[in-house]
Amino acid sequence: MRRRTKVVLTIVCIYLVTFTSVNIADLKVGFDYDDTLIFSTQAFRAGERSGNPYYSPEYWRVVNNSFNLEKVKLVPMTTALLYKALGFDVVIITARQGYGGEKLQEHWKWLAKEFYFERNKSSILEKGRFVAFFGDSDSDITEALKAGVKPIRVKRSKESDYKGKYHPGQYKECILPFSD
Ligand SMILES: [Mg+2]
Repeated sequence: MRRRTKVVLTIVCIYLVTFTSVNIADLKVGFDYDDTLIFSTQAFRAGERSGNPYYSPEYWRVVNNSFNLEKVKLVPMTTALLYKALGFDVVIITARQGYGGEKLQEHWKWLAKEFYFERNKSSILEKGRFVAFFGDSDSDITEALKAGVKPIRVKRSKESDYKGKYHPGQYKECILPFSD
């Protein structure tokens, strides 16, 4: 066999063994949604423009159905895809309320089998075998720590309307470079 063929076969073998092991071990990786995997300021602005009271069921219905206005964040999304390629289950956990969120869950099904609307993120993180949780907000980091999962900070875009709960490095957590 030619040397190059051997190298390629070895790499394919290592990949398959890794993928299968990760899969059998049921390993998961968690991602927050807003300002982590996607830039969703425009969806929230659509919620505001709808004139419904903030955080009312109708407001959430508009936000959750405005995903055509959202933009993918390149570095975090690539990271999620790499994990998926290695056999990890990608799980999305957002603190949004789930009113009218079925289409949004459906929209991301190709990436994440599980998509939760849950403020208490640690309750989900402590149930599965999560190797890491990626999020932009301080609460994402503290929820991961509470569940004993490794937190990784995603940088928030400067363009985001949301400015609260953002102190990267405050918990000595790793920060994903170029993630804003
Ligand atoms: Mg967020």
